[in-house]
Amino acid sequence: MPRGEVTDPGARIAWLGTAGHVIEAGGATLLLDPFVSRPSLLRTAATRLVPDEAEIARRIPSKVDAVLCGHSHYDHMLDAPLIARRTGAVLVGSRTTCAFARASGVPESQLRIVPPTGATVRIKDAEIRFVRSRHGRIRPVGVPFPGESLAPRLPGRVFHYKMGGAFGILVRAGGVAIYHNGSADLVDAELDGERADVLLVGLAGRTSTRNYLARLVHALSPGLVVPTHHDAFFAPLARGVHLLPGIDLEGFVSEARAQSPDARIITPGYFDVIAVPRGAAAKAVIVA
Ligand SMILES: [Zn+2]
Repeated sequence: MPRGEVTDPGARIAWLGTAGHVIEAGGATLLLDPFVSRPSLLRTAATRLVPDEAEIARRIPSKVDAVLCGHSHYDHMLDAPLIARRTGAVLVGSRTTCAFARASGVPESQLRIVPPTGATVRIKDAEIRFVRSRHGRIRPVGVPFPGESLAPRLPGRVFHYKMGGAFGILVRAGGVAIYHNGSADLVDAELDGERADVLLVGLAGRTSTRNYLARLVHALSPGLVVPTHHDAFFAPLARGVHLLPGIDLEGFVSEARAQSPDARIITPGYFDVIAVPRGAAAKAVIVA
C-alpha cells in the first residue's frame, strides 16, 4: 500500500468501516455514512438498535461540519442523529433520514432534506451534490427494506430503517472531487458531464449490478479508486477488517486495475488517512 507524505493535500479521507468516511477538505470536516456502533448479528436481528455512545465518542471527530447519508439503512445512518446532536453538525439526507434524525431529537435547524431527485448543498468551501442513484441488490432478497419511513419511533428494529431513496454523494472541495457510491448500483445519466478525482466504491452486492465498476469508471475517470462497504460490520472495529461473506476484494482490485490502468487503487485499513494531492489523485498516499 503506498505510504508517504503529500505536501499541501487538497483532501484527506479516512475510512470508518462499512461505507463510512471522514473527508477533510475545503475547511470542512464531513462524515459520509458514519456507522461505528456495529451491533452483533444477533443483536441486529433480535433487538431494537441503539447507537453506541462510547464508540462514537472514541471514533468520531469532535468537530464535524456535516453528516451526509446516502440512504437510510441502519448500517449507513444509525449513528448519524447522535453524531449530529453531539457535534451540532448539519445532517443531510432523504426525508426518511431526516425523519429518523427528528425522532432522535436533532433540531430542525440542523436538517437539510434531499428530495428524491437530488440536491446540492454548500458546507464551508465544500460543494456537495446528492446524486440520484439506486441501491444494490443483495442476494437473495434484492433491495433490503425498500420504501420510506416518515414517522419512525426510536429505538427502531433493523427493518424500520427503510432505504428511503439512494444517493451517490459528490464532494467538491479543496480542488478535489470525490464520489461516494455507498451502495452498489447507479443511474448512469445522473453522472453525465461529471468527473471525480476519487471514487469511493461500495462493494456489497456489486456482482448483482451489470458492469458496475466499468460504468462508474467510464462516467467519472477517477485517478484514485478506493473500495468501501466490503468489511463484515457485525463485529467491533477493534477486531480489525474482515471481509463480508461473498466479497472478492482481490478480484475487485484486479478488475479496477484493468478498468482504470492509470488510476491508483488503495485499500485502506480502518482510520488510515489517505492524502489526495490537488490535480494528482493518482499520487495519493496513506499518510497516517
Ligand atoms: Zn443499504
